[in-house]
Amino acid sequence: MRKNKLRRLVLVLGDQLDDQSSAFDDFNPETDAVWMAEVSGESTRVWSSKPRIAMFLAAMRHFREHLHRRGYTVHYRQLDDPANRGSLVAELQHAIVEHQPNEIVCVEPGEWSVREELQRAAGKMKREIEFREDRHFLCSRAEFAAHVKGRKQLRMEFFYREMRRKTGVLMNGTEPEGGAWNFDADNRESFGKSGPGDVTSPASFPPDDITREVLALVQTHFPKHPGQLTHFDWPLTPAQAREAFHDFIEHRLPNFGRYQDAMWSADGELMARPYLYHSRLSAAMNLKLLDPREVIAAAEQAYRSGRVPLASAEGFIRQILGWREYVRGIYWHFMPGYLERNALNATEPLPRFYWTGHTDLQCLRESIRQTLDYGYAHHIQRLMVTGLFALLVGVNPRLVHEWYLAVYVDAIEWVELPNTLGMSQHGDGGLMASKPYVASGKYIQRMSNYCTGCRYDPAKATGERACPFTTLYWDFLLRHETFLSKNQRMSMQLRNLARLSPAQRKEIQKHATDWRTRLSAVS
Ligand SMILES: Cc1cc2nc3c(=O)[nH]c(=O)nc-3n(C[C@H](O)[C@H](O)[C@H](O)COP(=O)(O)OP(=O)(O)OC[C@H]3O[C@@H](n4cnc5c(N)ncnc54)[C@H](O)[C@@H]3O)c2cc1C
Ligand code: SF4
Repeated sequence: MRKNKLRRLVLVLGDQLDDQSSAFDDFNPETDAVWMAEVSGESTRVWSSKPRIAMFLAAMRHFREHLHRRGYTVHYRQLDDPANRGSLVAELQHAIVEHQPNEIVCVEPGEWSVREELQRAAGKMKREIEFREDRHFLCSRAEFAAHVKGRKQLRMEFFYREMRRKTGVLMNGTEPEGGAWNFDADNRESFGKSGPGDVTSPASFPPDDITREVLALVQTHFPKHPGQLTHFDWPLTPAQAREAFHDFIEHRLPNFGRYQDAMWSADGELMARPYLYHSRLSAAMNLKLLDPREVIAAAEQAYRSGRVPLASAEGFIRQILGWREYVRGIYWHFMPGYLERNALNATEPLPRFYWTGHTDLQCLRESIRQTLDYGYAHHIQRLMVTGLFALLVGVNPRLVHEWYLAVYVDAIEWVELPNTLGMSQHGDGGLMASKPYVASGKYIQRMSNYCTGCRYDPAKATGERACPFTTLYWDFLLRHETFLSKNQRMSMQLRNLARLSPAQRKEIQKHATDWRTRLSAVS
Protein backbone atom coordinates (compact mmCIF):
# COMPACT_ATOMS: atom_id res chain seq x y z
CA MET A 1 0.00 0.00 0.00
CA ARG A 2 1.29 3.47 -0.94
CA LYS A 3 1.88 5.71 2.03
CA ASN A 4 1.53 9.45 1.32
CA LYS A 5 2.32 11.39 4.44
CA LEU A 6 0.16 14.48 4.56
CA ARG A 7 -0.11 17.32 6.99
CA ARG A 8 -3.84 17.43 7.51
CA LEU A 9 -6.82 15.35 6.52
CA VAL A 10 -10.04 17.34 6.54
CA LEU A 11 -13.08 15.12 7.05
CA VAL A 12 -16.17 16.42 5.27
CA LEU A 13 -19.47 14.71 6.08
CA GLY A 14 -22.55 14.81 3.85
CA ASP A 15 -24.08 17.73 5.76
CA GLN A 16 -20.90 19.83 5.84
CA LEU A 17 -20.67 20.97 2.24
CA ASP A 18 -19.19 24.41 2.88
CA ASP A 19 -15.64 25.31 1.86
CA GLN A 20 -15.72 28.25 4.29
CA SER A 21 -16.37 26.03 7.31
CA SER A 22 -13.90 26.01 10.20
CA ALA A 23 -12.45 22.71 8.96
CA PHE A 24 -10.97 24.64 6.03
CA ASP A 25 -9.31 27.32 8.17
CA ASP A 26 -5.58 27.32 7.23
CA PHE A 27 -6.20 24.71 4.56
CA ASN A 28 -3.13 24.41 2.40
CA PRO A 29 -3.83 22.69 -0.92
CA GLU A 30 -0.13 21.83 -1.23
CA THR A 31 0.03 19.75 1.92
CA ASP A 32 -3.58 19.00 2.98
CA ALA A 33 -6.35 16.85 1.57
CA VAL A 34 -10.08 16.36 1.97
CA TRP A 35 -11.69 13.03 2.82
CA MET A 36 -15.29 12.16 1.94
CA ALA A 37 -17.05 8.81 1.88
CA GLU A 38 -20.39 7.53 0.61
CA VAL A 39 -21.28 4.53 2.77
CA SER A 40 -24.34 2.31 2.63
CA GLY A 41 -24.43 2.05 6.44
CA GLU A 42 -25.64 5.67 6.65
CA SER A 43 -28.67 4.78 4.49
CA THR A 44 -29.63 1.60 6.28
CA ARG A 45 -29.10 2.64 9.92
CA VAL A 46 -32.57 4.07 9.54
CA TRP A 47 -34.40 2.83 6.44
CA SER A 48 -33.67 6.00 4.42
CA SER A 49 -35.92 6.90 1.54
CA LYS A 50 -34.56 7.12 -1.98
CA PRO A 51 -34.97 10.93 -2.20
CA ARG A 52 -33.03 11.39 1.04
CA ILE A 53 -30.16 9.14 -0.02
CA ALA A 54 -30.03 10.82 -3.44
CA MET A 55 -30.03 14.29 -1.87
CA PHE A 56 -26.93 13.59 0.19
CA LEU A 57 -24.96 11.69 -2.46
CA ALA A 58 -25.73 14.13 -5.27
CA ALA A 59 -24.85 17.17 -3.16
CA MET A 60 -21.63 15.48 -1.98
CA ARG A 61 -20.56 14.72 -5.53
CA HIS A 62 -21.23 18.30 -6.62
CA PHE A 63 -19.14 19.50 -3.70
CA ARG A 64 -16.31 17.16 -4.71
CA GLU A 65 -16.35 18.73 -8.19
CA HIS A 66 -16.21 22.17 -6.65
CA LEU A 67 -13.20 21.24 -4.52
CA HIS A 68 -11.46 19.74 -7.54
CA ARG A 69 -12.02 23.00 -9.39
CA ARG A 70 -10.33 24.80 -6.49
CA GLY A 71 -7.36 22.53 -6.93
CA TYR A 72 -7.90 20.58 -3.69
CA THR A 73 -6.96 16.93 -3.35
CA VAL A 74 -10.08 14.95 -2.42
CA HIS A 75 -9.88 11.34 -1.27
CA TYR A 76 -13.42 10.34 -2.11
CA ARG A 77 -14.88 6.85 -1.69
CA GLN A 78 -17.85 6.24 -3.95
CA LEU A 79 -20.66 3.93 -2.93
CA ASP A 80 -20.20 1.79 -6.04
CA ASP A 81 -16.46 1.34 -5.51
CA PRO A 82 -15.95 -2.43 -5.03
CA ALA A 83 -13.48 -1.63 -2.24
CA ASN A 84 -16.10 0.35 -0.28
CA ARG A 85 -16.24 -0.96 3.29
CA GLY A 86 -19.80 0.19 3.92
CA SER A 87 -19.30 2.19 7.10
CA LEU A 88 -17.80 5.54 8.03
CA VAL A 89 -15.70 3.91 10.73
CA ALA A 90 -14.11 1.33 8.44
CA GLU A 91 -13.52 3.86 5.70
CA LEU A 92 -11.94 6.36 8.06
CA GLN A 93 -9.63 3.77 9.59
CA HIS A 94 -8.54 2.72 6.14
CA ALA A 95 -7.89 6.34 5.14
CA ILE A 96 -5.75 6.91 8.24
CA VAL A 97 -3.60 3.90 7.41
CA GLU A 98 -3.33 4.86 3.77
CA HIS A 99 -2.60 8.57 4.12
CA GLN A 100 -0.92 8.78 7.54
CA PRO A 101 -2.04 12.37 8.20
CA ASN A 102 -0.34 14.40 10.92
CA GLU A 103 -3.66 15.96 11.87
CA ILE A 104 -7.31 15.08 11.35
CA VAL A 105 -9.90 17.83 11.56
CA CYS A 106 -13.66 17.89 11.18
CA VAL A 107 -16.49 20.31 11.89
CA GLU A 108 -18.73 19.08 14.74
CA PRO A 109 -21.04 16.46 13.14
CA GLY A 110 -24.81 16.97 13.18
CA GLU A 111 -25.43 13.70 14.97
CA TRP A 112 -24.22 12.57 18.37
CA SER A 113 -23.55 8.96 17.40
CA VAL A 114 -21.58 9.94 14.28
CA ARG A 115 -19.27 12.07 16.43
CA GLU A 116 -18.82 9.16 18.84
CA GLU A 117 -18.14 6.71 16.02
CA LEU A 118 -15.57 8.91 14.32
CA GLN A 119 -13.81 9.53 17.59
CA ARG A 120 -13.77 5.82 18.40
CA ALA A 121 -12.50 4.94 14.94
CA ALA A 122 -9.64 7.40 15.21
CA GLY A 123 -8.95 6.31 18.81
CA LYS A 124 -8.46 2.70 17.71
CA MET A 125 -5.76 3.98 15.38
CA LYS A 126 -4.23 5.95 18.29
CA ARG A 127 -5.25 9.19 16.62
CA GLU A 128 -7.38 12.12 17.65
CA ILE A 129 -9.84 14.16 15.64
CA GLU A 130 -9.89 17.88 16.22
CA PHE A 131 -13.60 18.73 16.16
CA ARG A 132 -14.15 22.38 15.30
CA GLU A 133 -17.06 24.69 16.02
CA ASP A 134 -19.81 24.72 13.40
CA ARG A 135 -19.89 28.41 12.44
CA HIS A 136 -22.93 27.90 10.25
CA PHE A 137 -25.15 28.46 13.27
CA LEU A 138 -25.82 31.82 14.87
CA CYS A 139 -25.90 30.43 18.41
CA SER A 140 -22.95 28.36 19.58
CA ARG A 141 -23.41 25.40 21.89
CA ALA A 142 -21.74 27.38 24.68
CA GLU A 143 -24.12 30.31 24.16
CA PHE A 144 -27.09 27.98 24.30
CA ALA A 145 -25.76 26.43 27.52
CA ALA A 146 -25.56 29.96 28.95
CA HIS A 147 -29.18 30.55 27.90
CA VAL A 148 -30.29 27.35 29.66
CA LYS A 149 -28.37 28.04 32.86
CA GLY A 150 -30.60 29.01 35.76
CA ARG A 151 -33.85 28.64 33.84
CA LYS A 152 -36.53 26.37 35.25
CA GLN A 153 -38.30 26.20 31.94
CA LEU A 154 -37.12 26.64 28.36
CA ARG A 155 -39.30 28.38 25.79
CA MET A 156 -38.44 29.12 22.21
CA GLU A 157 -40.04 32.57 22.43
CA PHE A 158 -37.55 33.83 25.04
CA PHE A 159 -34.60 32.33 23.21
CA TYR A 160 -35.83 33.97 20.01
CA ARG A 161 -36.05 37.39 21.66
CA GLU A 162 -32.49 36.99 22.87
CA MET A 163 -31.40 36.12 19.35
CA ARG A 164 -33.21 39.16 17.92
CA ARG A 165 -31.47 41.42 20.44
CA LYS A 166 -28.10 39.78 19.89
CA THR A 167 -28.21 39.99 16.09
CA GLY A 168 -30.22 43.21 15.72
CA VAL A 169 -32.48 41.45 13.20
CA LEU A 170 -35.90 43.14 12.85
CA MET A 171 -35.06 45.50 15.68
CA ASN A 172 -35.78 49.17 16.02
CA GLY A 173 -33.15 50.18 18.52
CA THR A 174 -34.00 48.08 21.57
CA GLU A 175 -37.60 47.51 20.46
CA PRO A 176 -38.86 44.82 18.09
CA GLU A 177 -39.83 46.09 14.66
CA GLY A 178 -43.58 46.72 14.49
CA GLY A 179 -43.90 46.82 18.29
CA ALA A 180 -44.30 43.05 18.79
CA TRP A 181 -41.88 40.14 18.92
CA ASN A 182 -44.05 37.88 16.85
CA PHE A 183 -47.07 38.02 14.59
CA ASP A 184 -48.02 34.39 14.96
CA ALA A 185 -51.69 35.26 15.38
CA ASP A 186 -51.67 36.61 11.77
CA ASN A 187 -50.09 33.41 10.50
CA ARG A 188 -52.85 30.89 10.88
CA GLU A 189 -55.11 31.38 7.88
CA SER A 190 -56.49 28.54 5.86
CA PHE A 191 -57.03 28.80 2.11
CA GLY A 192 -60.79 28.77 2.50
CA LYS A 193 -62.93 27.00 -0.08
CA SER A 194 -61.23 28.60 -3.07
CA GLY A 195 -57.83 27.05 -2.36
CA PRO A 196 -54.34 28.50 -2.54
CA GLY A 197 -54.85 30.28 -5.87
CA ASP A 198 -52.08 30.59 -8.37
CA VAL A 199 -48.96 29.80 -6.36
CA THR A 200 -45.84 30.21 -8.49
CA SER A 201 -44.02 26.89 -8.48
CA PRO A 202 -40.58 27.05 -6.89
CA ALA A 203 -37.39 27.15 -8.96
CA SER A 204 -36.66 23.64 -10.16
CA PHE A 205 -33.27 22.04 -10.78
CA PRO A 206 -33.60 19.09 -13.14
CA PRO A 207 -30.88 16.48 -12.64
CA ASP A 208 -27.57 17.11 -14.45
CA ASP A 209 -25.16 14.30 -15.41
CA ILE A 210 -23.78 13.97 -11.87
CA THR A 211 -27.25 13.74 -10.34
CA ARG A 212 -28.55 11.35 -13.00
CA GLU A 213 -25.68 9.00 -12.17
CA VAL A 214 -26.57 9.20 -8.48
CA LEU A 215 -30.27 8.56 -9.13
CA ALA A 216 -29.39 5.43 -11.11
CA LEU A 217 -27.02 4.33 -8.34
CA VAL A 218 -29.70 4.76 -5.68
CA GLN A 219 -32.21 2.76 -7.73
CA THR A 220 -29.68 -0.05 -8.12
CA HIS A 221 -28.29 -0.14 -4.59
CA PHE A 222 -31.43 0.62 -2.60
CA PRO A 223 -34.32 -0.78 -4.68
CA LYS A 224 -36.40 -1.78 -1.65
CA HIS A 225 -36.07 1.55 0.17
CA PRO A 226 -39.20 3.69 0.30
CA GLY A 227 -39.95 6.60 -1.97
CA GLN A 228 -39.32 7.42 -5.59
CA LEU A 229 -37.06 9.72 -7.58
CA THR A 230 -39.26 10.91 -10.45
CA HIS A 231 -39.67 14.40 -9.01
CA PHE A 232 -36.11 14.87 -7.79
CA ASP A 233 -35.22 18.50 -8.56
CA TRP A 234 -33.58 19.84 -5.41
CA PRO A 235 -30.95 22.58 -5.37
CA LEU A 236 -27.60 20.82 -4.91
CA THR A 237 -25.00 23.58 -5.10
CA PRO A 238 -24.66 26.95 -3.34
CA ALA A 239 -25.50 28.74 -6.61
CA GLN A 240 -28.69 26.72 -7.05
CA ALA A 241 -29.62 27.16 -3.41
CA ARG A 242 -29.24 30.93 -3.77
CA GLU A 243 -31.37 30.93 -6.91
CA ALA A 244 -34.07 28.89 -5.12
CA PHE A 245 -33.95 31.29 -2.22
CA HIS A 246 -34.30 34.47 -4.30
CA ASP A 247 -37.15 32.88 -6.21
CA PHE A 248 -38.88 32.22 -2.89
CA ILE A 249 -38.37 35.79 -1.64
CA GLU A 250 -39.79 37.17 -4.85
CA HIS A 251 -42.77 34.86 -5.37
CA ARG A 252 -43.87 33.19 -2.15
CA LEU A 253 -42.50 35.01 0.89
CA PRO A 254 -45.18 37.74 0.68
CA ASN A 255 -47.85 35.12 1.45
CA PHE A 256 -45.70 32.81 3.58
CA GLY A 257 -46.90 34.24 6.89
CA ARG A 258 -50.62 34.11 6.17
CA TYR A 259 -50.64 30.56 4.83
CA GLN A 260 -47.85 29.00 6.86
CA ASP A 261 -50.22 26.50 8.51
CA ALA A 262 -52.54 25.83 5.58
CA MET A 263 -52.65 22.50 3.75
CA TRP A 264 -54.24 21.73 0.43
CA SER A 265 -54.90 18.88 -1.91
CA ALA A 266 -56.47 19.46 -5.28
CA ASP A 267 -56.87 15.98 -6.73
CA GLY A 268 -53.47 15.14 -8.17
CA GLU A 269 -52.78 18.83 -8.70
CA LEU A 270 -51.25 18.78 -5.22
CA MET A 271 -48.46 16.66 -6.55
CA ALA A 272 -47.43 19.50 -8.83
CA ARG A 273 -47.01 21.93 -5.96
CA PRO A 274 -46.63 20.36 -2.55
CA TYR A 275 -44.59 23.35 -1.41
CA LEU A 276 -47.43 25.90 -1.46
CA TYR A 277 -45.95 29.14 0.00
CA HIS A 278 -43.08 27.40 1.78
CA SER A 279 -39.43 27.96 0.95
CA ARG A 280 -38.21 24.35 0.61
CA LEU A 281 -34.81 25.61 1.74
CA SER A 282 -34.30 23.35 4.76
CA ALA A 283 -32.20 20.74 2.96
CA ALA A 284 -30.02 23.39 1.31
CA MET A 285 -29.40 25.02 4.68
CA ASN A 286 -28.90 21.77 6.57
CA LEU A 287 -26.33 20.53 4.07
CA LYS A 288 -24.64 23.97 4.47
CA LEU A 289 -25.14 25.06 0.88
CA LEU A 290 -26.81 28.22 2.13
CA ASP A 291 -25.84 30.50 5.00
CA PRO A 292 -28.79 31.29 7.31
CA ARG A 293 -27.40 34.82 7.84
CA GLU A 294 -27.80 35.53 4.14
CA VAL A 295 -31.34 34.13 4.19
CA ILE A 296 -32.36 36.16 7.22
CA ALA A 297 -30.78 39.38 5.88
CA ALA A 298 -32.55 39.08 2.51
CA ALA A 299 -35.92 38.39 4.16
CA GLU A 300 -35.47 41.45 6.38
CA GLN A 301 -34.42 43.56 3.41
CA ALA A 302 -37.52 42.42 1.48
CA TYR A 303 -39.63 43.74 4.35
CA ARG A 304 -37.70 47.00 4.77
CA SER A 305 -38.01 47.76 1.07
CA GLY A 306 -41.78 47.27 1.26
CA ARG A 307 -41.97 44.10 -0.85
CA VAL A 308 -43.08 41.80 1.94
CA PRO A 309 -45.42 42.39 4.91
CA LEU A 310 -43.85 42.32 8.37
CA ALA A 311 -45.91 39.30 9.47
CA SER A 312 -44.46 37.23 6.62
CA ALA A 313 -40.87 38.37 7.07
CA GLU A 314 -41.02 37.94 10.85
CA GLY A 315 -42.79 34.56 10.57
CA PHE A 316 -40.11 33.28 8.21
CA ILE A 317 -37.18 34.73 10.15
CA ARG A 318 -38.58 33.26 13.39
CA GLN A 319 -38.36 29.77 11.87
CA ILE A 320 -34.67 30.20 11.13
CA LEU A 321 -33.33 32.54 13.80
CA GLY A 322 -35.67 31.08 16.41
CA TRP A 323 -36.80 27.48 15.89
CA ARG A 324 -33.86 26.21 13.88
CA GLU A 325 -31.26 27.51 16.33
CA TYR A 326 -33.36 26.53 19.34
CA VAL A 327 -33.80 22.87 18.34
CA ARG A 328 -30.09 22.58 17.67
CA GLY A 329 -29.37 23.97 21.12
CA ILE A 330 -31.81 21.51 22.71
CA TYR A 331 -30.32 18.58 20.83
CA TRP A 332 -26.71 19.15 21.86
CA HIS A 333 -27.55 20.23 25.38
CA PHE A 334 -29.67 17.18 26.20
CA MET A 335 -28.07 14.42 24.16
CA PRO A 336 -27.44 11.51 24.44
CA GLY A 337 -30.22 10.97 27.03
CA TYR A 338 -32.76 12.94 24.97
CA LEU A 339 -33.10 10.09 22.48
CA GLU A 340 -34.35 7.76 25.22
CA ARG A 341 -37.12 9.98 26.56
CA ASN A 342 -40.68 8.68 26.48
CA ALA A 343 -42.64 10.79 28.96
CA LEU A 344 -46.05 9.46 27.86
CA ASN A 345 -44.92 5.81 27.97
CA ALA A 346 -46.00 5.31 24.39
CA THR A 347 -45.32 1.77 23.22
CA GLU A 348 -47.43 1.10 20.10
CA PRO A 349 -45.71 0.10 16.85
CA LEU A 350 -45.64 2.49 13.89
CA PRO A 351 -48.46 1.59 11.45
CA ARG A 352 -46.97 0.04 8.35
CA PHE A 353 -48.75 2.48 6.05
CA TYR A 354 -46.26 5.17 7.11
CA TRP A 355 -43.84 3.44 4.71
CA THR A 356 -46.32 3.08 1.84
CA GLY A 357 -49.15 5.60 2.13
CA HIS A 358 -51.69 2.78 1.79
CA THR A 359 -54.45 3.98 4.08
CA ASP A 360 -57.98 5.25 3.65
CA LEU A 361 -57.39 8.21 5.96
CA GLN A 362 -57.17 10.86 3.26
CA CYS A 363 -55.00 13.39 5.15
CA LEU A 364 -52.47 10.72 6.06
CA ARG A 365 -52.51 9.15 2.61
CA GLU A 366 -51.78 12.47 0.90
CA SER A 367 -49.16 13.64 3.40
CA ILE A 368 -47.33 10.31 3.40
CA ARG A 369 -47.43 9.82 -0.36
CA GLN A 370 -46.15 13.31 -0.90
CA THR A 371 -43.42 12.64 1.64
CA LEU A 372 -42.33 9.47 -0.10
CA ASP A 373 -42.55 10.96 -3.60
CA TYR A 374 -40.79 14.25 -2.84
CA GLY A 375 -38.92 13.73 0.41
CA TYR A 376 -40.88 16.77 1.56
CA ALA A 377 -43.90 17.76 3.63
CA HIS A 378 -44.34 21.15 5.20
CA HIS A 379 -44.30 21.77 8.93
CA ILE A 380 -48.02 21.41 9.62
CA GLN A 381 -48.28 18.20 7.62
CA ARG A 382 -45.41 16.81 9.72
CA LEU A 383 -46.74 18.14 13.03
CA MET A 384 -50.51 18.01 12.71
CA VAL A 385 -51.07 15.06 10.37
CA THR A 386 -48.38 12.37 10.50
CA GLY A 387 -46.98 13.45 13.88
CA LEU A 388 -50.39 14.01 15.46
CA PHE A 389 -51.68 10.60 14.41
CA ALA A 390 -48.65 8.80 15.86
CA LEU A 391 -49.03 10.77 19.10
CA LEU A 392 -52.74 9.98 19.40
CA VAL A 393 -52.21 6.29 18.64
CA GLY A 394 -49.43 6.20 21.25
CA VAL A 395 -46.59 5.06 18.99
CA ASN A 396 -43.20 4.61 20.64
CA PRO A 397 -41.43 7.96 19.98
CA ARG A 398 -38.21 6.17 19.04
CA LEU A 399 -40.01 4.53 16.10
CA VAL A 400 -41.58 7.81 15.09
CA HIS A 401 -38.14 9.43 15.21
CA GLU A 402 -36.68 6.72 12.97
CA TRP A 403 -39.40 7.31 10.39
CA TYR A 404 -38.88 11.08 10.28
CA LEU A 405 -35.12 10.67 10.09
CA ALA A 406 -35.54 8.28 7.17
CA VAL A 407 -37.99 10.00 4.88
CA TYR A 408 -37.20 13.71 4.54
CA VAL A 409 -34.42 15.15 2.40
CA ASP A 410 -33.69 17.69 5.16
CA ALA A 411 -33.50 15.12 7.97
CA ILE A 412 -30.42 15.28 10.16
CA GLU A 413 -30.69 14.20 13.76
CA TRP A 414 -29.88 17.55 15.42
CA VAL A 415 -32.97 19.12 13.85
CA GLU A 416 -35.21 16.10 13.37
CA LEU A 417 -35.06 14.60 16.86
CA PRO A 418 -36.21 17.59 18.97
CA ASN A 419 -38.93 18.32 16.43
CA THR A 420 -40.18 14.74 16.46
CA LEU A 421 -39.61 13.46 19.95
CA GLY A 422 -40.08 16.83 21.63
CA MET A 423 -42.42 19.06 19.69
CA SER A 424 -44.51 16.43 17.96
CA GLN A 425 -44.61 13.46 20.37
CA HIS A 426 -44.23 15.28 23.69
CA GLY A 427 -41.76 12.51 24.55
CA ASP A 428 -39.60 14.97 26.49
CA GLY A 429 -42.53 15.78 28.78
CA GLY A 430 -42.65 19.46 27.80
CA LEU A 431 -39.02 20.50 27.50
CA MET A 432 -39.51 21.68 23.91
CA ALA A 433 -43.18 22.58 23.78
CA SER A 434 -45.36 23.91 26.56
CA LYS A 435 -48.16 21.44 25.79
CA PRO A 436 -48.77 18.47 23.54
CA TYR A 437 -49.85 19.45 20.03
CA VAL A 438 -53.13 17.54 20.07
CA ALA A 439 -56.28 18.24 18.10
CA SER A 440 -59.20 16.38 16.63
CA GLY A 441 -59.92 15.87 12.94
CA LYS A 442 -61.71 19.22 13.00
CA TYR A 443 -58.37 21.02 13.04
CA ILE A 444 -57.36 19.23 9.85
CA GLN A 445 -60.75 20.04 8.34
CA ARG A 446 -60.28 23.73 9.19
CA MET A 447 -56.75 23.97 7.79
CA SER A 448 -57.13 21.87 4.63
CA ASN A 449 -59.53 20.34 2.17
CA TYR A 450 -58.41 16.78 2.93
CA CYS A 451 -61.64 15.88 4.70
CA THR A 452 -63.87 16.61 1.68
CA GLY A 453 -62.45 13.57 -0.08
CA CYS A 454 -62.38 11.30 2.96
CA ARG A 455 -64.75 8.51 3.96
CA TYR A 456 -64.56 9.63 7.60
CA ASP A 457 -66.31 12.55 9.27
CA PRO A 458 -64.10 14.78 11.45
CA ALA A 459 -67.09 15.82 13.58
CA LYS A 460 -67.76 12.23 14.67
CA ALA A 461 -65.87 10.46 17.46
CA THR A 462 -67.86 7.24 17.39
CA GLY A 463 -69.88 5.31 14.88
CA GLU A 464 -69.02 3.86 11.51
CA ARG A 465 -67.87 7.14 9.92
CA ALA A 466 -66.03 8.43 12.99
CA CYS A 467 -62.76 10.14 12.09
CA PRO A 468 -59.92 8.22 13.77
CA PHE A 469 -58.19 11.51 14.63
CA THR A 470 -61.28 12.64 16.53
CA THR A 471 -61.80 9.32 18.32
CA LEU A 472 -58.15 9.08 19.28
CA TYR A 473 -58.00 12.73 20.34
CA TRP A 474 -60.65 12.22 23.03
CA ASP A 475 -59.08 8.92 23.95
CA PHE A 476 -55.69 10.67 24.32
CA LEU A 477 -57.20 13.18 26.75
CA LEU A 478 -58.84 10.37 28.69
CA ARG A 479 -55.68 8.28 28.86
CA HIS A 480 -53.49 11.18 29.97
CA GLU A 481 -56.00 13.19 31.98
CA THR A 482 -53.98 13.12 35.20
CA PHE A 483 -50.72 14.10 33.50
CA LEU A 484 -52.41 16.84 31.46
CA SER A 485 -54.31 18.27 34.40
CA LYS A 486 -50.99 19.64 35.74
CA ASN A 487 -50.70 21.78 32.63
CA GLN A 488 -52.56 25.09 32.73
CA ARG A 489 -52.53 25.34 28.94
CA MET A 490 -54.59 22.15 28.63
CA SER A 491 -57.40 23.36 30.85
CA MET A 492 -59.81 24.31 28.08
CA GLN A 493 -59.41 20.94 26.36
CA LEU A 494 -59.92 19.15 29.68
CA ARG A 495 -63.02 21.23 30.43
CA ASN A 496 -64.49 20.02 27.13
CA LEU A 497 -63.54 16.47 28.05
CA ALA A 498 -65.44 16.83 31.33
CA ARG A 499 -68.64 17.37 29.34
CA LEU A 500 -68.56 13.84 27.94
CA SER A 501 -70.95 11.47 29.65
CA PRO A 502 -69.64 8.15 31.07
CA ALA A 503 -71.38 6.33 28.23
CA GLN A 504 -69.69 8.54 25.61
CA ARG A 505 -66.31 7.98 27.25
CA LYS A 506 -66.80 4.25 27.22
CA GLU A 507 -67.84 4.25 23.59
CA ILE A 508 -64.85 6.40 22.57
CA GLN A 509 -62.42 4.16 24.43
CA LYS A 510 -63.87 1.05 22.84
CA HIS A 511 -63.60 2.62 19.41
CA ALA A 512 -60.02 3.75 20.08
CA THR A 513 -59.02 0.26 21.24
CA ASP A 514 -60.50 -1.20 18.06
CA TRP A 515 -58.42 1.23 16.00
CA ARG A 516 -55.23 0.37 17.87
CA THR A 517 -55.87 -3.33 17.40
CA ARG A 518 -56.45 -2.86 13.68
CA LEU A 519 -53.36 -0.68 13.31
CA SER A 520 -51.03 -2.98 15.20
CA ALA A 521 -52.30 -5.91 13.13
CA VAL A 522 -50.87 -4.20 10.03
CA SER A 523 -47.63 -2.95 11.63
C1 LIG B 1 -42.06 15.97 13.36
C2 LIG B 1 -41.21 17.00 12.67
C3 LIG B 1 -40.00 16.64 12.12
C4 LIG B 1 -39.19 17.60 11.49
N1 LIG B 1 -38.00 17.20 10.96
C5 LIG B 1 -37.19 18.13 10.37
C6 LIG B 1 -35.94 17.74 9.81
O1 LIG B 1 -35.55 16.59 9.84
N2 LIG B 1 -35.17 18.70 9.23
C7 LIG B 1 -35.58 20.01 9.17
O2 LIG B 1 -34.84 20.84 8.64
N3 LIG B 1 -36.75 20.39 9.72
C8 LIG B 1 -37.57 19.50 10.29
N4 LIG B 1 -38.77 19.90 10.80
C9 LIG B 1 -39.12 21.33 10.82
C10 LIG B 1 -39.91 21.82 9.59
O3 LIG B 1 -41.03 21.02 9.40
C11 LIG B 1 -39.06 21.84 8.32
O4 LIG B 1 -37.89 22.58 8.55
C12 LIG B 1 -39.79 22.50 7.16
O5 LIG B 1 -41.02 21.86 6.93
C13 LIG B 1 -38.93 22.46 5.92
O6 LIG B 1 -39.62 22.98 4.81
P1 LIG B 1 -39.30 24.42 4.22
O7 LIG B 1 -37.85 24.56 3.95
O8 LIG B 1 -40.23 24.65 3.07
O9 LIG B 1 -39.65 25.33 5.45
P2 LIG B 1 -40.37 26.73 5.62
O10 LIG B 1 -41.72 26.51 6.14
O11 LIG B 1 -40.23 27.54 4.39
O12 LIG B 1 -39.53 27.39 6.82
C14 LIG B 1 -38.30 28.10 6.57
C15 LIG B 1 -37.13 27.44 7.25
O13 LIG B 1 -37.26 27.53 8.65
C16 LIG B 1 -36.62 26.42 9.28
N5 LIG B 1 -37.60 25.78 10.16
C17 LIG B 1 -38.93 25.90 10.14
N6 LIG B 1 -39.49 25.25 11.18
C18 LIG B 1 -38.47 24.67 11.84
C19 LIG B 1 -38.41 23.84 12.98
N7 LIG B 1 -39.50 23.47 13.67
N8 LIG B 1 -37.20 23.40 13.37
C20 LIG B 1 -36.09 23.76 12.71
N9 LIG B 1 -36.09 24.55 11.62
C21 LIG B 1 -37.27 24.99 11.20
C22 LIG B 1 -36.18 25.48 8.17
O14 LIG B 1 -34.80 25.64 7.97
C23 LIG B 1 -36.97 25.96 6.97
O15 LIG B 1 -36.29 25.76 5.76
C24 LIG B 1 -39.62 18.95 11.43
C25 LIG B 1 -40.84 19.30 11.98
C26 LIG B 1 -41.63 18.34 12.60
C27 LIG B 1 -42.93 18.76 13.20
S1 SF4 C 1 -61.92 13.02 8.14
FE1 SF4 C 1 -60.31 12.55 9.58
S2 SF4 C 1 -59.06 10.99 8.57
FE2 SF4 C 1 -60.33 11.94 7.02
S3 SF4 C 1 -59.07 13.56 6.14
FE3 SF4 C 1 -60.29 14.49 7.75
S4 SF4 C 1 -59.02 14.39 9.56
FE4 SF4 C 1 -58.14 12.97 8.07
